[in-house]
Amino acid sequence: MTDMADFGVYIHWPFCQKKCPYCDFNSHVRETVDQARYGQAIITELETMAERFHLAERPVKSVFFGGGTPSLMLPEITGEICVAIKRLFTATDDIEITLEANPTSVEAEKLAAFHDHGINRLSMGIQSLNDRHLSFLGREHSAKEALGALAKAQHVFERVSIDFIYALPDQTTAEWLAQLADILALGCDHLSLYQLTLEQGTAFTSMAKRGLLDMPTDELSLEMFKETQAHCRAAGFHAYEISNHAKSGQMSRHNLIYWRADDWIGAGPGAVGRIWSPHDNSLEDNHEDNDRRIETRCRKHPDGWLDDVTKTGSGIAEENQEKPHAYAIEAVMMGLRLADGINIAAIESKAGARHSWLDTDAVARYCQQGLLNEKADILKLTEHGKTIMNTLIGEILIL
Ligand code: SF4
Repeated sequence: MTDMADFGVYIHWPFCQKKCPYCDFNSHVRETVDQARYGQAIITELETMAERFHLAERPVKSVFFGGGTPSLMLPEITGEICVAIKRLFTATDDIEITLEANPTSVEAEKLAAFHDHGINRLSMGIQSLNDRHLSFLGREHSAKEALGALAKAQHVFERVSIDFIYALPDQTTAEWLAQLADILALGCDHLSLYQLTLEQGTAFTSMAKRGLLDMPTDELSLEMFKETQAHCRAAGFHAYEISNHAKSGQMSRHNLIYWRADDWIGAGPGAVGRIWSPHDNSLEDNHEDNDRRIETRCRKHPDGWLDDVTKTGSGIAEENQEKPHAYAIEAVMMGLRLADGINIAAIESKAGARHSWLDTDAVARYCQQGLLNEKADILKLTEHGKTIMNTLIGEILIL
């Protein structure tokens, strides 16, 4: 199994200039950060993981610097981490190394240096081209500043992805579609277009509870989603994932690793990794195969994580052997987000008989209703099915 799955490395940089009111990521606002110390700790943790999970020979297809705001890192630090990754693992010739960036003018000045230090793909969180919406979302940049940063990014990087959030309070379909037309004209080959969701523990969620946030109705959100899919398709983008659209050959290799439930390690505060690893007899499990999928979760608080790495070489707070059933649930939940869908037989080969995790009667029923499509064990959502994806997935899984 191990040699079949693609393998990637996720690096979490947990610091931001400001906390956005919709964000539930592990992000912390600090006046100063000892970047050299954090960078070295990430390298130490990668060394520990490479050894513990026997990864030296493993080809790395992608590296992703996420956060937080990794574009606040010093480019030299990202460079040192890239060098360490290439030393510890076996980088493929076409390795994709992505950095998430915010489009402020300060960060834009560093883009060429990031490129020189090994980053070859940029994922830019523009979020809106409307200044009123940017201010509502608590972003630090204006639309004009973002467009300037994007122009610089496109000059430096061959591959630039841009992120936007829509279905905002008081946003109309017409306003969003006018903005989408401008987005489609920006010349990027990859778009991540997410609807605003209310996540636990965020400022927006507490505002909504107090009646201070007038979220769009389900009907309006659905209309915007359908129009978004249609406009992106008409512009030559393939909706390879429910919220991600790419021109030919421009899909995010790193995110495909998550959506296909492949293998990755995660280093840095709060980072999560999941990896097939040679069987460890000390961990209890009943599945017959020799390989086991291990989930690691690093300590979330940056100071605690740094202490742990300094003392033990790793900030891993939890290391669990994933049950085959849990793997199946992940593979279905993530895989049905993809236009290619899931291969039921392939999941079965890792997780055991389908009847223990998939309600095949429900699948047959939803296929008849035109919400799912199954052919030769490949199961996909239809266009209609995509509009009620979460409900459908909940109905067909045996939890
Ligand atoms: S910049 Fe990104 S990670 Fe940081 S608070 Fe805002 S949304 Fe969250």
